[in-house]
Amino acid sequence: MREYAKSGATRALWVGGLVASTAIALLASGAIGAGKHRITVDEAAIVASADKGDNWLTYGRTYDEQRFSPLTQVNADTVSELGLAWYADLDTARGQESTPLAIDGILYTSTAWSMVKAFDATTGKMLWSYDPKVPRETLVKACCDAVNRGVAAWGNKLFVGTLDGRLVALDRGTGHVVWETRTTPEGSDYTITGAPRVVKGKVIIGNGGAEFSARGFVAAYDVDTGKQAWKFYTVPGDPSKPFEQPELERAAKTWSGKFWTLGGGGTVWDGITYDPVTGLLYFGTGNGEPWNDEQRDPANGDNLYTASIVAVNPETGKYVWHFQETPEDRWDFDSDAQITIADVTIEGQKRRVLMHAPKNGVFYMLDAKTGAFIQGKPYTTVTWTTGLDPKTGKPQIVPEARYDKTGKLFIGMPGAAGAHSWHPMSYSPKTGLLYIPVTQAAFPYLAADKDWQPEPLGFNTGMDGVKTAMPAIPAVRAGAIKATTGALVAWDPVKQKAAWTVQHDAAWNGGTLATAGNLVFQGTAKGTFEAYRADTGKKLWSAPTQTGVIAAPMTFTAGGTQYVAVMAGWGGVWGLAPGILSLKGGAARNVSRLLVYKVGGKGKLPNVPWAKLPLDPPANFASPEQLAQGVQQYVRFCAACHGDAAVGSGVNPDLRHSMANADPKVWQAIVHDGGLAANGMIGWSKVMTPAQIESIRGYVVSRANEDKALGEK
Ligand code: CA
Repeated sequence: MREYAKSGATRALWVGGLVASTAIALLASGAIGAGKHRITVDEAAIVASADKGDNWLTYGRTYDEQRFSPLTQVNADTVSELGLAWYADLDTARGQESTPLAIDGILYTSTAWSMVKAFDATTGKMLWSYDPKVPRETLVKACCDAVNRGVAAWGNKLFVGTLDGRLVALDRGTGHVVWETRTTPEGSDYTITGAPRVVKGKVIIGNGGAEFSARGFVAAYDVDTGKQAWKFYTVPGDPSKPFEQPELERAAKTWSGKFWTLGGGGTVWDGITYDPVTGLLYFGTGNGEPWNDEQRDPANGDNLYTASIVAVNPETGKYVWHFQETPEDRWDFDSDAQITIADVTIEGQKRRVLMHAPKNGVFYMLDAKTGAFIQGKPYTTVTWTTGLDPKTGKPQIVPEARYDKTGKLFIGMPGAAGAHSWHPMSYSPKTGLLYIPVTQAAFPYLAADKDWQPEPLGFNTGMDGVKTAMPAIPAVRAGAIKATTGALVAWDPVKQKAAWTVQHDAAWNGGTLATAGNLVFQGTAKGTFEAYRADTGKKLWSAPTQTGVIAAPMTFTAGGTQYVAVMAGWGGVWGLAPGILSLKGGAARNVSRLLVYKVGGKGKLPNVPWAKLPLDPPANFASPEQLAQGVQQYVRFCAACHGDAAVGSGVNPDLRHSMANADPKVWQAIVHDGGLAANGMIGWSKVMTPAQIESIRGYVVSRANEDKALGEK
């Protein structure tokens, strides 16, 4: 483990950064004193912070989740002088997706494995660290790495959701646990990766799991006690039992067959937004489960309320309206992406709107009060729909995209990673542009055989991953790699077209931050942190990060100085599953750090050597029968974490390079007996025989030899 590094920056008195209104609030609360907080976070403080940039009090900075900072010290003229103020190495080597909070000169961030850390924002000194001790075997139920996207603050507490389904309240001053509540059923397939939001004294948290077995819900908990205040199911359960909510009766009419047996999906794993103006709480819901619609709902109904935005009353959790973006979803088109609220002028009329750029590749603008569809258009290449009905916003689905009906391969763009997923976007009211981190990656959708059965462990998507694995054919690979790119799209939500686009080589880049300094910040998969002019997209600044950056930057002031911070650390689903396509960009390795910059910062990152094992496999040993079995087992139980076609995607070991593949005994000790369970690699003896596990070794060794023959080292 590396030490927490400090910069040489002089310790500034952060008292100087306090603005008068904050001081008044603190005096009123009597909170000033040693070890006491200067600000009590509540709705008034969050709303008031919109016009001040000193603190970053909630995940999307303000309730409207615009991720726009009014700070201007770092601006288009000064950004060329931006340098590292300090950095902190993290003690977790998995994807870092968190946006830190800044409160009174202290940075609070969650890290992989749902840990939370507090740092002095000027010196980088770690003040406290909290580890919820998530059992590492939870990882096998997590689709997309042991990530966590952030903490919430309210009063003098912080809240974090843990990968294994708990909601934990911490004392903001000490990091000590105040209360802890289990939010998901014991032993279930739910995981929490999203940031909680706090609205009217209630902590709102959802969860993921719709690639396993999960019935989506979101719930609210009392900030003081952790007691559940309300719970909203997004999809109906067994219709022979009473519906928990009246709107589920209507939803059940859009499903057929035994849809509830795998939960149905519709999980609320990221986007949750509260609008104090409309008084509504909005959240996005995920894909239907399994992905293969024929296996979930043979009648191919709309499957409410999957792939939708739902508005509820935040006090009661009562349904107000919904808008379904992807009816009969079969492409893993979660609608969980960030929901942003803004006032915009459309056809001469000022309207309060909800803006959304979900995985399906289409930008949506809805009326924030009523959910009425205003307008929508693809913000990237889209092959599953020819467009939206201009009145209802319902998509026309291309017949070939119904791969479960046709039984044929459908190359979908966007694919299952989504054109834009959880990566935060930002909106500048100054430019009127939304800055969307876009992934341009196709996915080969092919349904599994009709007699497909759910897996006892592992992914339940109902897809044929064997036939669609990346072949060892150089021309096919080169074509797929070339077609897999990313972009920073500055989207004009009123004109519904890109004002400018920055094309990236690689697909999986960081979230964005917009500032009044006419800047947009974004980290990249190639291991850089960059700043662009918000109005034109001109690149103004870049710094090396040594690892792919996927999280969103944030900014704040401490001691009168503006800082820009970002969590660095390659990972998430793109750091696990896509195999060779993930490696494009060149920084597909995890070096987990919190990076903090300021104008005039002189810090330097120490070089971390890249210890990559050579591609030196034993000779092929498997019979054709063994190989056929090996690829089946690999796709069922290994591919989601160790990468398509056994090519590691940068976070978990690349099995082709693993020394374990040379020794059947070591292989069994790990894969069968669980010798690396402490790292999250469980033993698979419950679902595979030693012979099946040995067949996987045969497949991995064969893949390694194929790639070695193609010149890979
Ligand atoms: Ca999903």
